[in-house]
Amino acid sequence: MAYKRPPDTYDVLPYPNVKEPWLHTAKWRFVEGVFREVCGRYGYKEIRTPILEQTDLFKRTAGETTDVVSKEMFTFEDRGGRSMTMKPEGTAPVVRACIENGIFATHPTPKLYYIGQHFRYERGQKGRYRQHQQLGVEVFGADNPAIDAEVILLAMSFYREVGVKDQVLRINSLGIPESRVKYREALRNFVRPFLSEMSEEGQGRFEANPLRMLDTKSPKELELLSAAPRLIDFLDAESAEHFGALQGYLNSAGVPYEIDHRLVRGFDYYTRTTFEIAGASLGAQNALGGGGRYDGLVEACGGPKIPGIGFGLGMERCLISLEAMGVQLSIQNEETVQVFLITLGDASLVEAPAVKLLSQLREAGISADKSYRSRKFPQQIKEADEAGASYTLILGDSEIERGVVQLRNQKTKEQTEINLSEIVGEIKKISILSKNF
Ligand code: AMP
Repeated sequence: MAYKRPPDTYDVLPYPNVKEPWLHTAKWRFVEGVFREVCGRYGYKEIRTPILEQTDLFKRTAGETTDVVSKEMFTFEDRGGRSMTMKPEGTAPVVRACIENGIFATHPTPKLYYIGQHFRYERGQKGRYRQHQQLGVEVFGADNPAIDAEVILLAMSFYREVGVKDQVLRINSLGIPESRVKYREALRNFVRPFLSEMSEEGQGRFEANPLRMLDTKSPKELELLSAAPRLIDFLDAESAEHFGALQGYLNSAGVPYEIDHRLVRGFDYYTRTTFEIAGASLGAQNALGGGGRYDGLVEACGGPKIPGIGFGLGMERCLISLEAMGVQLSIQNEETVQVFLITLGDASLVEAPAVKLLSQLREAGISADKSYRSRKFPQQIKEADEAGASYTLILGDSEIERGVVQLRNQKTKEQTEINLSEIVGEIKKISILSKNF
């Protein structure tokens, strides 16, 4: 029986049935490379966190009434009887890791980035997968709005440099938990007259977590909520000043943005700044990435009382967006073979020296390969071309007898005989001199 992935899309590839998955991997590597490069330039260092965390970490931080925690987590009991969850988001694991390793005691403002797989039991559709890759940053220990601007500028730089040209930045401020108490009441008062017209889910949110009502995707609810009170009208003085300063910094950096009064984002830990970057070409799942400030999160996880801000962006949506815009990624195919060794004649004579030569070439830093299925010349030449080799080396009985090998330029078909003992040095010379090698 041939195994297949389940009908829902668990696949890590955004396009199921790709014929050459390694080309897709090369795209991932390209995007990751741009992200690493941009993060490095902004002074961020990479952190890798485990895929499994204790379930409680996400319940406590993201919030029990959020979609992710209430219905999308891959949670199971491990053999030790502990409830474990495959990480659905990147921030809480980073916070947990920093607290556990005492990072905040030695580094007052760590600036970190991560790249990794995330898991959510969602209904699969284009741009929404049960396994997806996020690239994100987290900064701790700074509540200066300039750092909010830095994090946003970093995300915008990344998109610009990776080739996404149609990015739209939306920002909002949620204020602090104290100022939200009044807002929550105002929102309930606004919704109460038409509560029965809200969906069952909306009505549940009205009771348990009214801000989540703003997060709805239902066109009817969006219409009902279009004149809802605005969070920014309920901000405490400091949050209002903070938000004003952030806008000033974005203006001075020449970054256009819109204020989106419904932008609460999917997790409960956000305070003050939230932001989202959308791609105009993405369609329904148009959020390329987003994030915000989470000033109470470190403390809620048992760490010191320090603020934080971060964002996460989706690899798959980034690639979909680039494809929709027709952007050709400058992917360097590092796996192209430079030299292909062709063996002819008596295998018992030729194969042992061939294995040795291949290994010598590879040890010398040259990417080299040979055929493992055919001993016919035309087929091996075809394989060499398919592998993208610039040169072939031809080794047959007569070459072995004379201690030589034929060096063939695949493009010009020019052939030269070279001593076996000198061939590795010769190829090294060509590789240094030739740009296209
Ligand atoms: P979030 O953690 O929900 O704020 O998501 C951050 C970003 O990750 C989103 O803007 C998407 O680009 C991406 N993302 C989140 N969930 C998924 C998913 N199920 N499939 C693909 N990308 C996702």
